Amino acid sequence: MKAVRFHEHGGREVLRYEDAPDPTPRPTEVLLRVKAVALNHLDVWLRKGLPGMTIPLPKIGGCDIAGEAVAVGPLCARITVGQRVLVSPGVSCGQCAACLRGEDNLCRGFQIVGGYTSDGGCAERVCVPEVNCVPVPDSLDDRGAAAVPVAFVTAWNMLVRQAHVAADEDVLVMGAGSGVGTAAVQIAKLFGARVIAVAGTEEKLAKARALGADEGINSTRQDLGQEIRRLTGKRGADVVFEHVGGAAWQKLIPNLAPGGRLVTCGASAGYEGRVDIRYLFSKSISILGAFLGTKSDLLKIVGHLACGRLRPVIDRTLPLAECAEGHRLLEDRAVFGKVVLLP
Ligand SMILES: [Zn+2]
Repeated sequence: MKAVRFHEHGGREVLRYEDAPDPTPRPTEVLLRVKAVALNHLDVWLRKGLPGMTIPLPKIGGCDIAGEAVAVGPLCARITVGQRVLVSPGVSCGQCAACLRGEDNLCRGFQIVGGYTSDGGCAERVCVPEVNCVPVPDSLDDRGAAAVPVAFVTAWNMLVRQAHVAADEDVLVMGAGSGVGTAAVQIAKLFGARVIAVAGTEEKLAKARALGADEGINSTRQDLGQEIRRLTGKRGADVVFEHVGGAAWQKLIPNLAPGGRLVTCGASAGYEGRVDIRYLFSKSISILGAFLGTKSDLLKIVGHLACGRLRPVIDRTLPLAECAEGHRLLEDRAVFGKVVLLP
């Protein structure tokens, strides 16, 4: 089969579109013909390599997968050949206390499809556990299905499971043009919140408004703290949806409302954020973290997608062979929503 692999870590030039061995499903796995695969920053980090982390090479990335089952292992009981599925990206043991109470993303053995240990969907074929296969509703095409899992399950975990977003709350969405940001804008609106989108260009803010955002802050031209205070009548935001990190925290923590929650899933602009602890206790503020989300949340999300209450946001689609260009677009933040590759 054709696949995009890298044999060493490095820049985008290490990505090779080449022949790779066809994968064979284990008894509990499904072999998928990949119809579409969406890129994430995880793909960029894996390609560059993380300090202290070794992964088997050559590597096929891609954890947001939509495909068609072409073979099922002998122990598979639910998915049938020919069925369209999207892939829940988290792989867990299925037997520990966390897994059994439905918090599979807290499993000590938690892994991501196409992450450190298994190959992903930047290929014509991929094997995934049957338990990770979610049937795709007819109303969702393959590109849309691939654009959903990581962005929506992460945003749902952050806003619903962690921050308990409620109607009429003010939710500030940082990086509103990213995949996870576009999902957050929609989920916050679904729960009746007022959304303040933050992005670096007017074009991204206009698109965020089209998705349902009520207000926008241009982080390039406007002062973040000052604008939050202006837009919330000096009260501050009830929820800050964060994945940027770095210096922004100094402006965000003081601008949370009493009882406010800052929830984060990333730190693309820096791993260290300064926190003045006095704000935490004097205003009963919580800082929450989230890593991906649970399989059961993805099922709820797919239900909302089937009814049109949520929708995937795709910036553009490219042939799989142009995977390196997709990485460039993500690294340059030149996208609104997801980049989807078609094998
Ligand atoms: Zn487990």
